[in-house]
Amino acid sequence: MYSCPASRSTFSIYVHIPYCLRKCPYCDFNSRAEPYAEDKYVQSLAAEAAYYQMLPEWADRTCGSVYFGGGTPTLFSAAALSRILSVLSGLFSMSGDAELSIEANPATLTNELSRAKLHTLFSSGFNRISLGAQSFSQDKLAQLGRIHSAVDVSRSLSDIRAAGFANINLDLIFGTPLETLTVWEQDLDEALRLCPQHLSVYGLTIEPHTYFAKRLKQGLLLLPDEDTQAKMFLLAQERLSAAGCRQYEISNYAQPGFECRHNIGYWKRSDYLGLGAGAHSFCSRSAPGSLLGRRWANIASPTDYMASIAAGGKAVAFAEDIDKEKAILEFFFLGLRKTEGISFAEYETIFGEQMPEDRLQILNQAAKDGLVEKTPYGAALTPRGLLLSDSVFSSLV
Ligand code: SF4
Repeated sequence: MYSCPASRSTFSIYVHIPYCLRKCPYCDFNSRAEPYAEDKYVQSLAAEAAYYQMLPEWADRTCGSVYFGGGTPTLFSAAALSRILSVLSGLFSMSGDAELSIEANPATLTNELSRAKLHTLFSSGFNRISLGAQSFSQDKLAQLGRIHSAVDVSRSLSDIRAAGFANINLDLIFGTPLETLTVWEQDLDEALRLCPQHLSVYGLTIEPHTYFAKRLKQGLLLLPDEDTQAKMFLLAQERLSAAGCRQYEISNYAQPGFECRHNIGYWKRSDYLGLGAGAHSFCSRSAPGSLLGRRWANIASPTDYMASIAAGGKAVAFAEDIDKEKAILEFFFLGLRKTEGISFAEYETIFGEQMPEDRLQILNQAAKDGLVEKTPYGAALTPRGLLLSDSVFSSLV
C-alpha cells in the first residue's frame, strides 16, 4: 500500500501565462502570439486558485514553491503578476522560504519601464528569475527565431541583479541549425562569465507540428550530427562542472544551494497544482480508487480556459488516475533524471514491495554497460548514462 512521505504535505503551484510576442519556430509549448486580455486572464487564475483552495486535497497544506512559466510571463505588467502572487499567498499557506520563480524573455526587459517592472516583481516577493537567454551568438539566435539579441541578455541580466535578484537561471540551448562545437563552447564560456547561480542546458528537439519539423521534413534544416550533439552535451558537463556548477539533473546545473526546488518537486513526484491555460497538475491524494495519484491538464486554448473558469471554476480537459504500473514507470523515468538517482528504500515505501528482480537485472546490465552506477542507497545514471538516458529509460519501461 502506498503511503505518502511526510514531504507530500507540501506542494507547489505552477502558473501558466500562455502568450508570447512571437512564436519561436521550434516551440511546442502552449504559447500563442495573439492579443490578450490581461485583466480577464488574471481574474480567471484567481478564480481557479480559489476553486482548488476549497478542495480537501489542497486545503491546509503548505506551498513550498510557485513557478510562473509560459509563454512569456514577463509580457504581463508587474501589477498583474504581483496581483496573481498576492492572490495565491492569500489563499494558500506559503512556506517562509518559498521559492517564487518567474520566467522572463530578455526581449521583454529592455527599457526603463522593464527596470521598474523588475523592481516591482522583486519587492512583491518573486525571488528567482529564469531568463531565456538560449545563446550569445547573434547568428544562432537568428536561426532560432528569437526576438532578442545577445546584448539584451547581458543588459537584462544586470537589470535583474540591480533589482535585487540573487537567484538567477539562464536557459541555454544546443544542437541548433548550423551550430558548431566552437559556437557552443563560446556560449558556455559567456554564460559562465556572467556567473548565474543556475543553468538549464537543453538539446534542441524537433517537436512534431512545429515550423522546424516542417523544415526538417523538407530537408531544409541542417542540424549538427548526433556525434556533435553528444560532444556538446559532454562539453557542457565538463565546462560547467569545472566551474563549480553541479549537474543535478540531465539538463540542469547549479551552484550549491541553488538547485531549482520547484523542478526537483516534479522529478520527485511531489504534488503540484497547475493554474492557467494548458497547465498540468499532479496530486497523490486526488484518486480515491488509486492512491498513487492523479494527473490532469487544463484546456489549452486561453479563450476556452477563461470561459470554462467563468462557468464553473475549473477547466480540466484531461485527467488520468495513476495506477501502480504507471507510477513505477514514473518513479524510474523521473527519479533517474536526477544525478542522485533513485532510492530502493523509497521504492519500497511507495510501492510496499522490494524492487522487482527483473528491474534490478536491467539496472545491473546498464551498470555493466557503464550507464548506471550503484549508490549507497540505490542507483544513478553515470555521466555517460545521462547522455544516453533515453536508452536506459526505454529498457526499464
Ligand atoms: S519565447 Fe519560449 S514559450 Fe514563447 S514561443 Fe519562444 S520558446 Fe515558446
